[in-house]
Amino acid sequence: MSQQILNVNKVQRIPLLIDGQWVGSGREEIYPVHAPATGHKIAEIVRGTEQDADQAVRAAEKAFNSEVWQSIKPFERGQLLVRLAQHIRNHRDEWAMRECRDVGKPLSQAYADVEAAARYFEFYGGAADKVAGESIPIENGLLNVTVLEPVGVTVHIIPWNYPLQIIARSVGAALATGNAVIVKSAEDTPLSAHALAEWFAESELPTGIFQHLTGLGQEVGAPLVAHPGIHHVTFTGSVQTGISVMKAAAENVVQSTLELGGKSPNIVFADADWDKAVEGVTRAIIQNAGQTCSAGSRLLLEESCKAEFLKRLQQRFESLDIGPGESDADIGPILNERQFKQIMGRIDEAKQQGKILAGGRAVTPEGGEGGFYIEPTIIDGLEPDCAVAQEEIFGPVLSVFTFKTAEEAINLANSTDYGLVAGVWTKDIDVAHTVASKVKAGQVFINNYGAAGGIQMPFGGYKKSGIGREKGFVALRNYVEIKNIAVKYGK
Ligand code: NAD
Repeated sequence: MSQQILNVNKVQRIPLLIDGQWVGSGREEIYPVHAPATGHKIAEIVRGTEQDADQAVRAAEKAFNSEVWQSIKPFERGQLLVRLAQHIRNHRDEWAMRECRDVGKPLSQAYADVEAAARYFEFYGGAADKVAGESIPIENGLLNVTVLEPVGVTVHIIPWNYPLQIIARSVGAALATGNAVIVKSAEDTPLSAHALAEWFAESELPTGIFQHLTGLGQEVGAPLVAHPGIHHVTFTGSVQTGISVMKAAAENVVQSTLELGGKSPNIVFADADWDKAVEGVTRAIIQNAGQTCSAGSRLLLEESCKAEFLKRLQQRFESLDIGPGESDADIGPILNERQFKQIMGRIDEAKQQGKILAGGRAVTPEGGEGGFYIEPTIIDGLEPDCAVAQEEIFGPVLSVFTFKTAEEAINLANSTDYGLVAGVWTKDIDVAHTVASKVKAGQVFINNYGAAGGIQMPFGGYKKSGIGREKGFVALRNYVEIKNIAVKYGK
């Protein structure tokens, strides 16, 4: 398996996994997958259909209700997930190289994703037999308890930017709580989902407990989320598609957990530790070339330190190297031409309205011919309400704004439709906590940004950044129904 995936000259065909069978290998309807670093074709996925979605849901229902699955004890489900974590760690080089080639990300970031995926499976594996209900005091002679039951068939719609991590975080929680999962991978980055499907296909799980659908969002994703046999949808991606998914889920009256990106601010006060703040602000926007839902794409800077701080930041941006993921440069390629054009269009817009302080150009690094690369870019002088300052760009592009007071900083931070993450950089504990309490964001980081992934930390957004929370113990609640049982006893 690994040799095939890592062989750069081989174009791998990726079929669907439905009810334990590899489906569609002989079909003509395929979608090509290109390495972002060079544009070379590395794989082709089978384009799943409405009928495939239907078969997968039926197989999931059957597997979920099977005696085999129902008789597996929670701790045994957990052990299986822990074994998967071990497998990922034992083969970390292959998993990292696969993610690096498929998504284009720098190798060390791919290794970090691999470790995060292992941690998700391990964390949720450990939690499998610790998700418990409660007893509620009502009156003498009445024992009232709640029991947490799996919801049934859960659907996981995956984006292209962090495929392995994002599958692991929701599939780990859903399997730990006893559900049957169907993963729909992103059309452009299917490799790690397929490798997981191979592992599950060989595991002792009943067929139909883990299934993988490949294909286009409209062709197989939409019928899957509209299927009456599903019980929960977890989606990460754009606001627009998230709204369609939520509407389909509403028609089915099933819950959806949506993570829809952001326009996250880093708020830097003059008294901050500048070395740490410069590095934190830089890392927050260059990770995965800015193609990150929690990218710190706005810098809100206390006016009194603007000139000096920006000089330091500019120097740091200019020191960053750009190259194919395998060279482990600071910044890798953009996913594809569509995303590249979208980002460059935003940079051109910004040039009309503000001033480029660093970057702003497309480049072709050595070994990256055929790929799409953009210099890390700082833009100053934009109006805070312009489109570039308000909308997610999904590239290595940072817009700078200034404030004089903490109140102004809070208003600026809250001035977009998003509310996923915020960073606050100051040595003043009062200021730090005041800002943290008033910023509308699902995660606030003080004097750091991202906390190394934070497997255990609830993650999700305010406003258009989404609904519900993933990661941490709280995410297990997405995948259970609460049943209340009242028992009358005595006379
Ligand atoms: P998208 O939201 O359209 O796609 C995400 C996933 O949803 C993919 O697996 C896709 O096949 C699937 N999908 C598409 N339409 C569907 C439907 N009707 N029903 C069910 N599933 C469907 O995102 P995209 O087109 O890949 O990227 C566009 C923009 O989205 C990016 O520029 C970026 O701004 C944003 N984005 C955000 C994140 C994030 O982490 N929040 C991730 C990827 C993309």
